[in-house]
Amino acid sequence: MAKRTKQSSKRRTPNPKSRTPGAKSGKHVYFFGRGKADGNRHMKDLLGGKGSGLAEMTNAGLPVPPGFTISTEVCNIFYKQKGKIPSAIDAEIASNLKKLEQTAGATLGSTENPLLVSVRSGAKFSMPGMMDTILNLGLNDDAVEGLKGRTQNGRFAYDSYRRFIQMFGNVVLDIPKDAFEHELEAVKKARGAKLDTDLDESALGDLVARYKSVVKARAKRDFPQDPKEQLTMARDAVFRSWMNARAIEYRRIYDIPDDIGTAVNVQMMVFGNTGDRSATGVGFTRNPATGAKEFYGEFLINAQGEDVVAGIRTPQPIRELGGVMPKAYKQLREITTRLEKHYKDVQDFEFTIQDEQLYMLQTRSGKRTGHAAVVIATDLVAEKLVTPKEAILLVDPDALDQLLAPGFDPDEWKKIPVATKGLPASPGAASGQVVFTADQAVEWSNQGKQVILVRRETVPDDIHGMFVAQGILTATGGMTSHAAVVGRQMGKPSVVGAGDLEIDEGRRQFRVNGKTVKEGDYVSFNGLTGEVKIARVASTPSEILQVVDGALAPAKSDIYRRFDKLLSWADKFRTLGVYANADLPDQAALAYAFGARGIGLCRTEHMFFGEGRIPIVQRMILADTEADRRKALDELLPLQRDDFYGVFKAMRGCPVTIRTIDPPLHEFLPKREELMVDIAKLEATGKNGAELDEKRRLLHRVEQLHEFNPMLGHRGVRLGITYPEITEMQTRAIIEAACRVNREGVKVVPEIMIPLVGLEKELRDQKAIVDRVAAEAMKKEGITIKYLVGTMIEVPRGSLAAGEIAEDAEFFSFGTNDMTQLTFGYSRDDAGKFLKIYQERKILDKDPFASIDVEGVGALVRIGVERGRKTRPALKIGICGEHGGDAASIHFFHQAGLNYVSASPYRVPAARLAASQAALATRVGD
Ligand code: ADP
Ligand code: MG
Ligand code: MG
Repeated sequence: MAKRTKQSSKRRTPNPKSRTPGAKSGKHVYFFGRGKADGNRHMKDLLGGKGSGLAEMTNAGLPVPPGFTISTEVCNIFYKQKGKIPSAIDAEIASNLKKLEQTAGATLGSTENPLLVSVRSGAKFSMPGMMDTILNLGLNDDAVEGLKGRTQNGRFAYDSYRRFIQMFGNVVLDIPKDAFEHELEAVKKARGAKLDTDLDESALGDLVARYKSVVKARAKRDFPQDPKEQLTMARDAVFRSWMNARAIEYRRIYDIPDDIGTAVNVQMMVFGNTGDRSATGVGFTRNPATGAKEFYGEFLINAQGEDVVAGIRTPQPIRELGGVMPKAYKQLREITTRLEKHYKDVQDFEFTIQDEQLYMLQTRSGKRTGHAAVVIATDLVAEKLVTPKEAILLVDPDALDQLLAPGFDPDEWKKIPVATKGLPASPGAASGQVVFTADQAVEWSNQGKQVILVRRETVPDDIHGMFVAQGILTATGGMTSHAAVVGRQMGKPSVVGAGDLEIDEGRRQFRVNGKTVKEGDYVSFNGLTGEVKIARVASTPSEILQVVDGALAPAKSDIYRRFDKLLSWADKFRTLGVYANADLPDQAALAYAFGARGIGLCRTEHMFFGEGRIPIVQRMILADTEADRRKALDELLPLQRDDFYGVFKAMRGCPVTIRTIDPPLHEFLPKREELMVDIAKLEATGKNGAELDEKRRLLHRVEQLHEFNPMLGHRGVRLGITYPEITEMQTRAIIEAACRVNREGVKVVPEIMIPLVGLEKELRDQKAIVDRVAAEAMKKEGITIKYLVGTMIEVPRGSLAAGEIAEDAEFFSFGTNDMTQLTFGYSRDDAGKFLKIYQERKILDKDPFASIDVEGVGALVRIGVERGRKTRPALKIGICGEHGGDAASIHFFHQAGLNYVSASPYRVPAARLAASQAALATRVGD
C-alpha cells in the first residue's frame, strides 16, 4: 500500500501550459483588499493555491486581511537570475506595498503606527509545512514600542517581536530552531512559567534580548532593523525554500514538477495573541478522516500562527469555540459553509480571531483519507451540492486502495490489552517493528522489515520515513498536526498525541504504562479508533473485499454501497473498457466482482506451476522426440482445458484473452547449481541408481537450455515456432473449453494472443496453426464458435511493423512491461539499482515501469495504434502491462484511442475511476 500512495497525484498534469497571463501583461504582483482582488480561484498556477484562495475570499466579501501576492513566475525568474529580482519587479512590489499601507492605515517601519505583515509561501499544490512562512515582519526595537503604545499591550508587542526574531532567524538566517527553543525554556524556567502564555512583558523583553544574541552569535550579524531589508530577505528566503531538501523530496513523492515555483504572499498581520479574546485555529468543513458531516478542527486562545499545529499547547476542539466566542464561531460556521458550497468540496481553512473579530487566512480543498473521499463524494451528491459527474472528479483513484487495505482480525485484536490510546488521525490497521527515526525507517524497510515510525512529533524532514512506514505513531500533537495531515494524505494509518508514550530517542525505547518497548519490538494500532497495542496482530480483509468475496452482505456495509455507487457513476462516463489480468478462475471471479468486464491477459504458464503439473511440463521439455513431447502435452491438455473452462465461466461471457506460452523453458526446470549438488550427493552415496541417471539427464538439458540473456532469448512466439505442438495443445484446450462453455449457454469469444511478435510472418505461422487446430476442435465438439487471433505488441519492431502485423492480427494488446524494458534497454529485474539514482538526479522524472514513459514508449504505442488501424480500422486494441492500473498512464491510453486497459484485479476499481476521469477531462477540454 505504501508504494501506491506515491502515485496519488499522478493525474496532475506534469506540464502546466497556461502559465503566461502574467508574462504577457508584464504583471507580477496581485493585490487583494477592500473587497476586491486582482486574482481569483482560477489563477492557482500564477498565484499558488493560497494566493488564489485569498483573492477569491476577498472578492466574495469575506474578512481577509489585505495584502498582495508575488507570482510564481517571479520565483522562476529568481532562480534563472541566480537569486536576483529585476528592478522593475522590485518597483511593482514597492507600489503594492504603498497600496497596502494605505489600505491598512499603517506604515511599514513606522514607530507610531507600524504595519506588520506575514510573508507566506504558497505553491499551486499544497505542500504542508514544506516551505516557510514568517509572521510579524516589520518589527524592530522602535516599532515594538510603537505597537505597544498603539495597543496598550506590552506583553503582546514583545510576544510578537520574539516570535518574529525566532521565525526570521530560523527561516532567513538558517539558525536551528533549537537555539531559540533553548532560550525560551531557560526563560520559562527562570520565571517558573509552565506555558509560553505565562510569560509577562518583562520576561518576553528578556527573551527578545537573548534571541538577538543568538542571532549575533550564530549569523555573525545584528538582527536586521530595517523593515524593507527584512521584507526583501524574507521574500528571497521563501523563494529559496522552494528548493530545500524536504520540499524537493515531497515533490518527488507526489509527482509535483519542480519548475512551477512558489508564490509569496505579503499580508497585513492580524493577531491571535493579543489576549484571551483572541485565538488562532484550523479546521475542516467535514471530518477528513471518516468523511462524516461534522465541523472539525482545533483552536488555541491567545496564540499565533502555527501554535495549533506545532503542538506547543494542547489545542481545544473547535466546537468549544462556540462557548468561548459565540459570535465569531457563528460567523466562522457561516463562512466555511459558504466556502464549501462555493468550491463544491470540503474546505480546509485557517483563521485568526483578534479581539473577537474573525479573519480568514486560508481556504483550500481538504486533504482526506480514501475512506473519507468516498463518503464525502457520495454525501455531496445526496445533498445536491455536486452532480455525480463532479463527484467522480473529487476522488483520487489511488485513494481507493486504502479502502481495500486490510484491517485487524477482530478476534485477534480483542485478545490483546490496549496499551494506550491516541487520537485516531488516519484510519487503517498498522503493525510493525518500532523505529525512532525516519532514516532508520528507510533503512529497515529496505531490508524488507515492516516498521512503525514512533516520534514525539513528526516534522517535515521525516517525510521519507513516513512514506515507507506501515504507520505513524506520535506522542504529542492534535488531529491537525503534521503527522495527522501527512498520514491522511499518504493514506497511512496514524495515531497521534498518544500522550502516555514516554519516548526516549537516545536509548531507542519508549515506556508506556509501565512497559518498556525497545526498537525492533512489535506494536500495532488502529488508526480509526486510536488504540495502540504492544504486539504483532494479524489482519483481515477490508469490508469491501469481504462484500466482494461474498462473506458480507452489501446491505451490511455502508462503505461498500458508497464505493459501488461512485464506481457505477464512473462507468457511465468512461469510454475505455476495464479488463483484468487474471490467470486462474478465482482471480477472474474477484476481478469480475470488482467490475472487470474482460480478461486482458491470462498467462497460461502460471497454470503449469499448479499442483502436480510441473513433472508433466518437465517431461514435455525433456522429451527427445516429438512423439514423446506430444505424449506429455496430451496429459497437460485436459488440465489446461479445465482452467480455461473455469476462467470463462467466471467471466460470464466477457472477452477472455489467453496468451500462449511465453517464458523460456528453463524456468520450469530445476536450477543448475541445485542439480549439481544433488548429483554430487548421489554419487557420494555410491548408489548409481535410476535417480542419478535422471538427474544427469536433467542437468544436461538444463545446460543445453542455458541462455546468457533469457529475456532476449528463446521465449514467446519463438517457442511456438520451434515447438508448434505446444501452440497446438494450448489452442485445443482453449477452443474445447470455449465450445463446452458455449454449449452451456455462456457465449464466450476467446481471444488467442501470441506473445512477443515482431515480424508479421511469426504471427502468420502461429495463426495458421491456431486456425487449423481450432477447426479440428470445433468439428470434434460439434459446435462452431467465434474466436479471435491476435498478438501482443511488446517488441518495438512490433509497433513499427504494426501495419503488416494487423493483416493477420484481429486484435493488439500492448505489453508495456516488456516494451518499456526493450525500448529503454533496461532489464526489469536489474534496473532498480540505477533507476532510483536516475530519479534523484532528475534524469528520469518517474519510474517508467510504474507510469508509462509518454515520450518514448508512448510514442511506440501511438505508432502501433495508427499503423495497425490503418490496415484494419476496427482493430481492437488494449494494454495489459502494469501500466494498465496506473492513473496517469490510463489518461494516456485513453487519449491514444485504446479500447481497454487491463489491470490487476485489485486495481480494477481505481482503473474504472481513472478511465472515467480521463474521459471527462477530455470532454471538458473540447
Ligand atoms: P502554511 O502554508 O505552512 O500553512 P501559512 O502561510 O498558512 O503557512 O501560515 C501559517 C499560519 O500563520 C496561518 O495559518 C496563520 O495562522 C498564520 N498567519 C499567516 N499570515 C497571517 C496574518 N497575516 N495574520 C495572522 N496570522 C497569519
Ligand atoms: Mg500551516
Ligand atoms: Mg496555512
